[in-house]
Amino acid sequence: MSENRIGHYINGLMSNGHGGNTQPVYNPATGQVSGDVALASAADVDAAVAAAKAAFPGWADTPPIRRARVMFKFLELLNAHKDELARAIVLEHGKVFSDAQGEVARGIDIVEFACGIPQLLKGDYTEQVSRGIDNWTMRQPLGVVAGITPFNFPVMVPMWMYPVAIAAGNTFVLKPSPLDPSASLLMADLLTQAGLPEGVFNVLQGDKVAVEALIDHPDVKALSFVGSTPIANKIYQRGAQHGKRVQALGGAKNHLVVMPDANLDKAVDALIGAAYGSAGERCMAISVAVMVGDVADTLVPRLAERAKSLTIKNGLENDAEMGPIVTAQAHQRITEYIAKGVDEGAELVVDGRSFDSAGAGNGCGDGFWMGGTLFDHVTSDMKIYQEEIFGPVLACVRVPDIATAIELINDHEFGNGVSCFTESGHVAREFGRRIQVGMVGINVPIPVPMSWHGFGGWKRSLFGDMHAYGEEGVRFYTKQKSIMQRWSDSIDAGAEFAMPTAK
Ligand code: NAD
Repeated sequence: MSENRIGHYINGLMSNGHGGNTQPVYNPATGQVSGDVALASAADVDAAVAAAKAAFPGWADTPPIRRARVMFKFLELLNAHKDELARAIVLEHGKVFSDAQGEVARGIDIVEFACGIPQLLKGDYTEQVSRGIDNWTMRQPLGVVAGITPFNFPVMVPMWMYPVAIAAGNTFVLKPSPLDPSASLLMADLLTQAGLPEGVFNVLQGDKVAVEALIDHPDVKALSFVGSTPIANKIYQRGAQHGKRVQALGGAKNHLVVMPDANLDKAVDALIGAAYGSAGERCMAISVAVMVGDVADTLVPRLAERAKSLTIKNGLENDAEMGPIVTAQAHQRITEYIAKGVDEGAELVVDGRSFDSAGAGNGCGDGFWMGGTLFDHVTSDMKIYQEEIFGPVLACVRVPDIATAIELINDHEFGNGVSCFTESGHVAREFGRRIQVGMVGINVPIPVPMSWHGFGGWKRSLFGDMHAYGEEGVRFYTKQKSIMQRWSDSIDAGAEFAMPTAK
């Protein structure tokens, strides 16, 4: 067992838990075990939820401006510690440092949004809806809410959830991925330093056992999940069976359409960055290039050249463009998909399996390394087109025109992100209107919405009605109440047996 035990954070204290198992945590660049993460038992879940439940009345009663002040202090601390967080991400996830810094920055955006909670919670008021009667609506927190997050954004995705949930007056239990658990504890510590009362934010390390106990727990009022589609679907169904509010964001297969009139230099840059950045382990990564007309004849050789010359290194090296794959199992899964693509008849233009990490001189021969892979002549009946590979594999599909491109994308089961590169305003407008995808980029490869707009896919990329963060996030973490009020001086009738109407 490693000396570095990564435990839970319950009621303001670090805890190793009661009776749960542990699991090794790896540095994907070296393949070495860097710690052991606790896996919460049902008793740990009970303890975390009880702490959050006990903290709820006091926190919900705290005026929103005071909750916002804690967020402002947290923001200050995050800015002071952002590189420490980015480093923790690199060491357990493997992504390159500049990318981890970007992840932290996009998380900080949400904290900035949450600082505006007094304005966001302002209700509606109508005077004189009937004689002497006023009516207003207000939004109140739900209680204990839980967030279950994936390995690929250990800082940003939790921040899609807890800053908004907490600022709105809820208390929170975060269940991060056991693959890169350390960042969650750094965030918990900064929240405590910011003055957040004990029990308002809790971290439960763990996996399926913890997640199922959270879903089934009667004191957990809502669940936000981000991860793969099969698990998202299960969580949505199980949560709904308990009558809980659930938002479950799932997997993706994001297309980038290149029109013949596009700026091809920019399109190549966009495809390389969006397909191979973070080794393709992003839910908004581009995994399919849809080449319209004869654009592929020019683009594929240029993509091949760039894919072969990616700077693949330990993410802590300054010039690294792509780091390792998160685990040996994920490496194996991606390798199998590449073999499947070859069997299915796609043309393997660049084979990332042949990447020699020791030869590449990055000093990390034992980590989970692979290069960028490029397939051409991929068709919609192939598994490498249909399924999420979640690795540095770009599939090029050739189509005759924009109508076929839109039909192809709309027929896909996922609908997270999409992009279209064109110089035509008309094509851009029609694409934006007709595409069945939740987040659209025009000449923007990874259109992750800003913190006040909200994030969410369509189709099997999101189960639930509301997107993450933004005003949708505030709605998700609050329930509306309507109050009608009059005072006895305005009451001029006795018992009324007819349905009250405006008088
Ligand atoms: P995952 O589904 O394996 O795990 C997500 C979370 O669920 C983790 O906390 C994990 O511990 C937990 N979990 C795993 N198996 C479970 C089970 N059987 N029952 C209950 N909980 C379980 O996903 P991952 O590999 O960590 O992350 C990658 C996936 O997340 C990809 O599919 C990616 O597209 C998706 N993702 C989606 C978005 C989005 O916004 N739509 C964002 C990031 C990642």
